[in-house]
Amino acid sequence: MKQFDVAIIGGGIAGLVASIELAQAGKSVVLFEKASQLGGRAISVKKNGAIFDLGNHAIVRGGAVDEIFQDLGIRMEGGSPSANVSVLWNNKVTHIFKFLISRNLSWSGKMELLKFFTKLGKIDADSVPAISLRSWIEQELRDPMVRHIFYAIFRVQTYSQAPDHQLAGPVIRSMARAMKKNSVVYVQNGWQTLVDQLYEKAIRAGVSMMTGTNVTKIEHDGAVRKIKFADGQEMDITHVIAATPPAVTSQLLGDAGCNSVLRWKEQARVIQAASLTLSLKRLPVPNRFSVLGVDQPIYFVNQSKFIRLSEDGTSVVHIVKYNGTGGTDPTADEQLLEQILDLIQPGWQKEVVARQYLPNIVAAYDYMHLGREDRFPGPAVPEIAGFYVAGDWATHGENLADAAAASGRRAARCVLMDMEAGRKGGRDTILV
Ligand SMILES: Cc1cc2nc3c(=O)[nH]c(=O)nc-3n(C[C@H](O)[C@H](O)[C@H](O)COP(=O)(O)OP(=O)(O)OC[C@H]3O[C@@H](n4cnc5c(N)ncnc54)[C@H](O)[C@@H]3O)c2cc1C
Repeated sequence: MKQFDVAIIGGGIAGLVASIELAQAGKSVVLFEKASQLGGRAISVKKNGAIFDLGNHAIVRGGAVDEIFQDLGIRMEGGSPSANVSVLWNNKVTHIFKFLISRNLSWSGKMELLKFFTKLGKIDADSVPAISLRSWIEQELRDPMVRHIFYAIFRVQTYSQAPDHQLAGPVIRSMARAMKKNSVVYVQNGWQTLVDQLYEKAIRAGVSMMTGTNVTKIEHDGAVRKIKFADGQEMDITHVIAATPPAVTSQLLGDAGCNSVLRWKEQARVIQAASLTLSLKRLPVPNRFSVLGVDQPIYFVNQSKFIRLSEDGTSVVHIVKYNGTGGTDPTADEQLLEQILDLIQPGWQKEVVARQYLPNIVAAYDYMHLGREDRFPGPAVPEIAGFYVAGDWATHGENLADAAAASGRRAARCVLMDMEAGRKGGRDTILV
């Protein structure tokens, strides 16, 4: 096999970003992806003329994805959701303004909600102590309904349904960004357009792409020596970035393992969701764009209201149930999602053109939570020179795709710094 400076395992956003940054810095890079296509959880699929992302995806401007994609020249065209939101409470769907002036919210609750909303965008997230989202909300808000509303908003913002574990600071930071006008962006023609552009940039920078290639082992003796593949081939290499989930990364090291990666794997808490995406000929209630579940961990959105996702005018809608860190019964989740759709868009079944149900899909392999022994995993792996990690779980405070992109950049920069300093990573690596 040809010799390369760096091998990257995993062709999701993290691996693709790392590959471009290294290749643009003049390194010879090979990227191995076990699936037949690149993109990982950022791919889109085409069904009966409609484009489906893997669940409801949005980018919040001002975060790592936005910054890194701009640096790399990746265009992010899209549309932002409007304030036309409804609320699901007590199995009733009500427009948010009606809900807020209704008796569901006391007079003092209305005042508290208004004050908190105005204050939220201005809170300095760095000054928030390392407490859970629930402790912070209960400290800040007195009215139970106002608390419910903010739990619901934060849930949609982070995909996470774990207020007892989620650290408040990172959530507030990303919320402050999301509150800016037009900052939440649904991507025109789906996230595949981003993956395709990353691929083109990587190829133009000289990255060798090997899809359908399953890496099974990284051989090391305190320094990276070789990687091995499912088909029995192997390749000598000195620098490897594993942009794979923590359990896979740990498995790749085999029995020889290493304590840091094992710890990162054990401390990781996945964020899961049950996601139903449909393309519908027409919407029974066309002016119902999005619905926020307040007493249920549900969110509905008609993305086609804001972006183009089909050739023939069908509407692509997502309904998601946030499952937190525990997997739940796929059939029960599907039934619940359908029952709630009956409330939001009664008669939707007659309009279905295509359907994608993803039970217990992983939105992130870890997030900033209490009990994370190592707050910031990677990018260097202290025990193994030349070995680095990336992926949305290797977050240093970012969330979801922001964490994936930021960790990819961190790993690439760490490799470059080590190479420049004549080091091969390991214990003395400077973290960036
Ligand atoms: C339902 C859903 C909704 C989401 N919504 C949002 C959102 O609104 N906003 C947002 O910012 N983010 C969102 N995300 C998260 C975002 O999609 C992910 O954070 C991001 O795509 C993860 O990228 P990654 O590179 O870390 O991992 P992945 O995309 O998982 O990439 C890892 C890659 O490694 C490959 N691989 C694994 N093992 C091997 C091996 N042994 N050899 C070779 N290759 C291997 C896999 O095939 C995969 O392609 C959502 C995710 C989901 C599922």
